[in-house]
Amino acid sequence: SSSPKHSILGNLNDAQKRAVSSDAATVAILAGPGSGKTHTLTSRVVWLVDCVGYRPEDVVVATFTVKAAREMKERIGKALGGGREKKLVLGTFHSISRRYLAAYGRQIGLSQKFGIADDSDSRAIVLRICKRLQLTIDPPTARAWISKKKAKGTEPETGSNVAFSRKPPPKKTAGQEELETCYKEYQDQLERSNLLDYDDLLVRCVELLRKFPSCVSNIQTVLIDEYQDTNGVQYELMKLLAQQHRRITVVGDPDQSIYGWRSAEIRNLWRLLREFPGADEISLEENYRSSQSILDLSLLVIQQDKKRYQKVLKPIHNKGTRPVLRKLKSASAEAEWIVSEIKRTLMMSGEMLTYNDVAVLLRSAALSRHTESALGKAGVAYRMVGGFKFYDRVEIKTVLDYLRVIHQPENNDALARIMNVPKRGIGDVTVKGLVEEAEKSSQSLWTLLVKHCRGDRAAKTKITKHAEQKISGGLLRLLDGVRKRIEQAANDPGSPFGLVEIIEQLLVALDFQKVLQNAHPDDHEQRWANVQELISLAADFVRDLDQTGDEEVLPEIEGIEQVKEVDVLARFLANVSLAADAQTKTGDEETKSLVTISTIHAAKGLEWPIVFVPAVYNGSIPHMRSEDGDEERRLLYVAMTRAQSLLYLSCPSYSSNGNGERNELSPFISPISSSFAKKGPCFDRPVVAEIARILGRKLPPEADIFKAMPAMFCPEDNLFPVDPDEARKLAAAEMMHGEGSSSNDAPRMKRLRLSG
Ligand code: ATP
Ligand code: MG
Repeated sequence: SSSPKHSILGNLNDAQKRAVSSDAATVAILAGPGSGKTHTLTSRVVWLVDCVGYRPEDVVVATFTVKAAREMKERIGKALGGGREKKLVLGTFHSISRRYLAAYGRQIGLSQKFGIADDSDSRAIVLRICKRLQLTIDPPTARAWISKKKAKGTEPETGSNVAFSRKPPPKKTAGQEELETCYKEYQDQLERSNLLDYDDLLVRCVELLRKFPSCVSNIQTVLIDEYQDTNGVQYELMKLLAQQHRRITVVGDPDQSIYGWRSAEIRNLWRLLREFPGADEISLEENYRSSQSILDLSLLVIQQDKKRYQKVLKPIHNKGTRPVLRKLKSASAEAEWIVSEIKRTLMMSGEMLTYNDVAVLLRSAALSRHTESALGKAGVAYRMVGGFKFYDRVEIKTVLDYLRVIHQPENNDALARIMNVPKRGIGDVTVKGLVEEAEKSSQSLWTLLVKHCRGDRAAKTKITKHAEQKISGGLLRLLDGVRKRIEQAANDPGSPFGLVEIIEQLLVALDFQKVLQNAHPDDHEQRWANVQELISLAADFVRDLDQTGDEEVLPEIEGIEQVKEVDVLARFLANVSLAADAQTKTGDEETKSLVTISTIHAAKGLEWPIVFVPAVYNGSIPHMRSEDGDEERRLLYVAMTRAQSLLYLSCPSYSSNGNGERNELSPFISPISSSFAKKGPCFDRPVVAEIARILGRKLPPEADIFKAMPAMFCPEDNLFPVDPDEARKLAAAEMMHGEGSSSNDAPRMKRLRLSG
């Protein structure tokens, strides 16, 4: 090729170019939001493959979310061509770890068919242990303690379960002892069910790479995005992945460190610079994302933190439209205002902006209720990202639990949950008794059930004849049937029996639609729709696999046997467990344009032309349960810096718990509240043109319609809802009658209001 270097570096500024093409072993890019860190990292991957000549399969790229991984892969793919991006070892730390464990886990005694315990599984297990052993500790605290302990990192010389065999602290309180008991019990239980939790995935991979460095002997270099949010184990993992050549590129921003509660440590940055001396440290100082006024206000927020590491960040764009701070009576009034403001903006942009350009970013998932219902009422489709627990819905969880048991019969928890779903006349007490019996006798619940049903009298827990029949004739037979079908299909490559068929056969065998009708007479239709959504997610997953081919397979390495993972069900379940930022859609399947509702955490690294941050009151942000006010401030900073052109903060005056409590504006915002506009902008032609400029879009001719009547669409408190079609017709009609430049807006305002 003539000059690939040229095309990669073409659009970058000087600092970015230097970062992309640096030949230092360690490169650390520390820079603010929107300065092109991710963009630069992506370009560096292309550079390393195209210009330095690394094989893609020898390059590791770690991103923070599954979504970010997908987007990065796509961009790299476009630049590299020939589908070469598929060979990169690219994903979140968790998915990279899972890939290595699936391929080589046998070396460290991992059973091949391990499953993944997601957060809710872990919580449930800890809860049960605390109850059974009558521990006085608070289960969520215990869960967090266990996770912290695992995440803190591992010492090289310890045994098989690295995290667990750390030396106990010298002095133990009663609480401490209980925590450790709970930890041990929890770990035993995971092992019995052949499950790894999120932390284990990392810890066990660390163990693997430490004992069998040859697994990563091919790796030339490791690149990491959102480095500020790596924790101790991830740091360890990074070092081990790069152990052959010690070439590491990290990009991050200490101001956007928002995972301290998950043991992320900014300290890892200084540790890296110490342990890998001679790093090329590069700062990027231009913000390409946001208008100047959005950036200015965001910086006013983060600069309240006096201890922070100062950086330069200059906007490249013009002032733009002043961000809005709006107080409304209640959370529902707030949500309605948001929807009307969205509609007004899209309409005024003359179709330049669509619902896809809008995000509503929330401190906690629990706040989504009002926004969802207001959007729903207005007929606006939306997608939910992050922390909204699609996979935690009862009906979804049930189907997944069945799939988990089909994949892995020794998954006791999943089996316990489905034993009486649908109702088989097996009471909670019986289930509990069986689970305990299994635990005490160190056999799996599955084995125990099989024994029961064979009439093995050694089994102690009493179950009725009726229940026994239901288990053996119903549950076990059903599961066996599906499993047999899968095996058959595996032996017959011509068979079209895939993941979707597995799920569909399961649903038929369960008569699941009927089951939902009986169990949930009020909302079974919605639940069935959710199940359909799961099938379509599975179909998407299979399609992705087909397109990307054998991406999960690592390159052959001499002297070490690799297990090739062909089981699509296993991969799908792992994917579900690791997709913490899974998306769900509502409304019409075919709708292309959707408003995004996301937690701030899941919005990290992303950008939207229009961003709303509701509920900026004390107790919401900073959150009342948070102990780290600085982290809460950084969270607000992350939210605000997602916006490109328009930023709206809002706050309901009264709390929605119904006791008339007043909300106090967030202390991060109150000192600077006078810098905000109180109402949304008047969208005259120059405003819309400026938005177009920031987004690099073409100003559509439709916007001309509104050219002559700038004042007309200034918001008024009660000016909603506005029907865009109606308004456009009205505006066009008025243009025809030559009234456009009239200074008297009152009659038109009235007519608009009537149209709503
Ligand atoms: P964050 O800290 O929020 O993750 P970031 O530093 O990773 O931000 P990017 O997402 O990489 O920033 O870039 C922000 C926006 O700026 C993107 O739309 C990107 O395409 C654009 N951008 C980055 N560098 C340039 C450049 N040199 N010229 C034009 N646009 C750029
Ligand atoms: Mg980024």
